[in-house]
Amino acid sequence: MDSTTAFIIVSVMMLANGSVLGLLHRDLPVNLRPAALSWQAGTLLVAFGCIFFAFEWLMPLPLTVTVANAAFLFGLVAYVWAVRRFYGLQPKLVDLVPVFIGSFTVFWFSAIHPNTKVRIIVVALAWIWLMAAAVRVLLAHRDTALSRKMLTSILIAAIGFTMARMLFYIFLPMELDFKITDNSSWMNLATPLFMTVLPVVGATAFVLMCSDQIRRQWERAASTDYLTGLANRRTLTETGAGQFKLAAERSRRLAVAVLDIDAFKAINDTYGHEFGDKALVHVADRLQAGTRKIDLVARSGGEEFVVLLNDLDLSEAEVAAERLRLSVAADPFNFAATTVPITVSVGVAVRQPDDRSFADIMRRADKALYRAKQEGRNRVELAA
Ligand code: GH3
Ligand code: MG
Ligand code: MG
Repeated sequence: MDSTTAFIIVSVMMLANGSVLGLLHRDLPVNLRPAALSWQAGTLLVAFGCIFFAFEWLMPLPLTVTVANAAFLFGLVAYVWAVRRFYGLQPKLVDLVPVFIGSFTVFWFSAIHPNTKVRIIVVALAWIWLMAAAVRVLLAHRDTALSRKMLTSILIAAIGFTMARMLFYIFLPMELDFKITDNSSWMNLATPLFMTVLPVVGATAFVLMCSDQIRRQWERAASTDYLTGLANRRTLTETGAGQFKLAAERSRRLAVAVLDIDAFKAINDTYGHEFGDKALVHVADRLQAGTRKIDLVARSGGEEFVVLLNDLDLSEAEVAAERLRLSVAADPFNFAATTVPITVSVGVAVRQPDDRSFADIMRRADKALYRAKQEGRNRVELAA
């Protein structure tokens, strides 16, 4: 196979891939669409560059090499911007610097002072610059997604190949009329194949990154409370059951504090529901700030919260609950020039040896909370 045929075949592959991505993009959540569109643009630009190379014999060389290389470089920028947008970052104009340097160099060293080696070196450096920019963004977002590691590895391998290819051409004896598309060197055939790395292999990794992101969004939505961002009732029930089982198996301690905002209905009635919502977020923040990382803070419903206190006995849990109560009382809620003092009543219970489930602890904590309300609110009561 000659490299012109190879360029035609890979262009068709890329165009097909770009079209699939275009059709797919409507199925993605709105926040991922800009990234997917950028990736598609990258693929179409690289395909366009390959088509130009395939038909270069129809046009003067300075025109084909300049247009094709500019298309490749713009395509790479689109990939970098796809990765940036994927993480909710703005595209950076500085990414265009290697595009303009690269394109101008290609024009200059093809039309004005023809020199293939300089062209190849500068374009390779521009590619490396851009791929390294994408790698930097990917490495800065250390999540556990395998797809992110996949795309990072693909880009690093592509950087390695680009360096090797640059060295290969530096040491390759070249005639003045040397062309990337003639068959004088095996590297000329390897180049179009290499061009498919990002549009085809990289696109698969990128689509997997999108699907991984969607899964995470769903998991977060299912496990957290929309208003406060705390764990929701479902997470509380699951985590509580898990921690109860562990504590029972290993004879560990487990304490639960149930907190309910005092006279919250009055706050809602006086200042409105929206104000009430903001007050709930305020209390949630106080509770989150006042607990250790290992403790789970959940909004169990309405204006009621539950804190799972790991490995505390009743008197230690009382100290922790008292600290939470004070931290809410000491920080009145302030919004739209209105300051409203907020207090909570708290019921605390710990796991007993004869408890059969997490619900048993919760029941005792609820009873203690009921007593705290009866005895005047803004206080902590311990389960019997
Ligand atoms: P107590 O001291 O006995 O707990 O009195 P309370 O007024 O807090 O108790 P009550 O159960 O009578 O009222 C709770 C109120 O919480 C009623 C409801 O309007 C309000 N509420 C529940 N969920 C939300 C919410 O998501 N947003 C807002 N703004 N209010 C809520
Ligand atoms: Mg209440
Ligand atoms: Mg309540």
